[in-house]
Amino acid sequence: MIKKNRFLVLLVVLINVGNIGAQVLDTSKLYIDSLIQKATNYHVKYEVKASIETANKAIKFADKVEDHYNRAHAYNLIGLNYELIKNFDEAERSYNKGIYHANKAKNDTLLCWLHNNIAEVYASGYNNKEKSIGSYQQALKYAKKINDTLEVLTPILNIGWTHIDDSDYEKAYPFLVEAKTYIDSAGDTQSKAQVNYLFGKYNTHKNDLKLASQNYADAVVFGEAAFMHDQLADIYMDYALLEQIQGNIQHANELLLKHIEAKDKVLNEQKIAQASIAQSKFIVDEYKRELEVATERQIVQEKLSQKRRMMLIIVGVTTLLLLILLFISFRMMGSKNRLSTMLKKRNAELFQAKKEAEDLAKVKSEFISTVSHELRTPLYGVVGLTSLLLDDASFSKKEHSILKSLKFSGDYLLNLINDVLQLSKIESKKVVLNNTSFNIKALLKNIQHSFEYQAEQRNNKVKIKLDKNVPRQLKGDSVRLSQILINLVGNAIKFTENDTVVIAVQSHGIDNSKAKLRFEIIDNGIGIPKERQKEIFDSFTQVDRAQGNIVGTGLGLTVVKQLVNLFGGDIALESEANKGSNFSFTIDLEVDVHMHENASNELGFYKGGKKKNVLIVEDNKINQMVTKRILENANFTCEIAENGKDGVDFMKDTKKQFDLVLMDMNMPKMNGIEASRAIREFDTHTPIVFLTATELEEIKDDIFNAGINDYIIKPYDKYEFYQVIMRNLNGN
Ligand code: ADP
Repeated sequence: MIKKNRFLVLLVVLINVGNIGAQVLDTSKLYIDSLIQKATNYHVKYEVKASIETANKAIKFADKVEDHYNRAHAYNLIGLNYELIKNFDEAERSYNKGIYHANKAKNDTLLCWLHNNIAEVYASGYNNKEKSIGSYQQALKYAKKINDTLEVLTPILNIGWTHIDDSDYEKAYPFLVEAKTYIDSAGDTQSKAQVNYLFGKYNTHKNDLKLASQNYADAVVFGEAAFMHDQLADIYMDYALLEQIQGNIQHANELLLKHIEAKDKVLNEQKIAQASIAQSKFIVDEYKRELEVATERQIVQEKLSQKRRMMLIIVGVTTLLLLILLFISFRMMGSKNRLSTMLKKRNAELFQAKKEAEDLAKVKSEFISTVSHELRTPLYGVVGLTSLLLDDASFSKKEHSILKSLKFSGDYLLNLINDVLQLSKIESKKVVLNNTSFNIKALLKNIQHSFEYQAEQRNNKVKIKLDKNVPRQLKGDSVRLSQILINLVGNAIKFTENDTVVIAVQSHGIDNSKAKLRFEIIDNGIGIPKERQKEIFDSFTQVDRAQGNIVGTGLGLTVVKQLVNLFGGDIALESEANKGSNFSFTIDLEVDVHMHENASNELGFYKGGKKKNVLIVEDNKINQMVTKRILENANFTCEIAENGKDGVDFMKDTKKQFDLVLMDMNMPKMNGIEASRAIREFDTHTPIVFLTATELEEIKDDIFNAGINDYIIKPYDKYEFYQVIMRNLNGN
């Protein structure tokens, strides 16, 4: 078989274009070009492996820059190499890849080459003439498009050759004619040798031996000029045979000798080539395996790096999210810190405000307490003196009435002060009920008595209804019980005219020496409308009245309610407008079983036997006088010590004998507590009764620790006063 023409390499000198991007591109293109040139050189030298390797390298670089042209070029080279080692499958695959890239590059020259080369694979590799001719026709089509004589000649000659190889001389003929026209205009020496050789074969077949001899002779001339040893060997042989047929034995022999000579050369060349090719075949197989392994490795690597990229992305995204979260939590912490700092600040402010409010409340209640005490002391004098004067029978009726109104004013003021003091004390939760023995009948009479004047003014009468089952002698806080009743009776008289106000006390049984007592203050006055009944117990609340002559502060019922609660009861009200009111409460009071009513009469006057001598230790002149007169009116004798120290001295004086000491609190030189303590050092039996305007809770412990037996809170009511004195004289 005759070796046909293959397209190998077309070197294109690239021209640099001016910009940097293009320069970079061109630099790599130049490098790829150089690789292809190198691969071509290897191929020519039958160094198939090196050629394929280099061409593959070129493809790798061309891939990076999307260089379809050079990829097509490189695949063409690889195809040629595989063809050389008779690996037609790989050759066909490479050419097809080349065709694909040449199409992409829209390069007709390369398309012409590749189709031409693949046609040869079909022809000599697969012996598929039809497919082979089809591909040559394709090559020819592209060659004609380029309009290059040499490019066109190759497929034309190859088609002719294929037909002649197949002894299809008629089909070959038009292609030979066509080739001839091209050769005549611009054919190269090789093509000229080939076309003449093919015409020689054709004319031999046509039996035009003369013309055939001429064709062979021309072919020899061009073939020798182009050193085409391979094809020359065939030409010499066919020419020799023709000469022999024509009887030109001499020329035939010469030609045969030339044939042998050329064949030797070819064989020598082929020997080297075949050795190299055989070696290459093995190496290329190895290389292919390596390549496959490398490709597999690359795939694995790519997968790995893809995974790595994924991991990186995941790690990156996660880190970013964490950073965002961290940032948010920092911000939140910041705002939390800010919030807690703010809260701390607010708390501190609140604490400060609370402290200030408490301090203020303390100052307020201390102020009220101080003022009330200061008011109570002179009032004690006014009320006390008035009481004394009222007992004096030498006053006329008119004078007596003036004194009564003076007493009323004093009492009213005293009650008011007591209410204010009580309220401020209840507010500051300082109130603890005392537990002294008292006579309930005396207490009620005393209240009735103190309202005599006021009742008279409004033409009212105050009546006491004391149930006979009520134990007369009780234990409890008589001062506060009085305060409750004074407020209620005071109101009843105030809102009633020409009628009777009743103070009723009923026993609801005695349990465990505790009497359950129900107190009622009933009037037939103006009453309280239903809708106002709840609120009158609030501080400073008064029911609006048409008549504006009624005075009040709105404090009384508030104090009453709180005090009743302190006793463990609750104030109740039944009232109807214009019909009257009934204020009631039920409380438990201890029955004083030790104190019999007989021991003192209801009012506590001392009646029998030797007059008792009382030491009054008091610095206030008015008080001295009031106390002295009250005691003397009840048949006592008294002496006055001006201060605590004098009091102690009096007691030490063996010439003086006292049955009881009335001790004031605030005095110069030595106060009541100090004096009592000093007395107790040498006298432990004489009863000491403390007289104080100071609220007891604050000094109670001091009093009893100093050995004081009892106390009376100023301003006191004279009946209450007698009671305390009597029970201490009786040893209770
Ligand atoms: P005040 O000092 O004004 O009497 P209180 O708290 O004692 O204050 O009474 C509150 C109001 O309740 C009075 O102003 C009066 O309107 C009404 N009130 C209290 N007791 C009676 C009563 N017995 N009859 C009619 N109204 C009364």
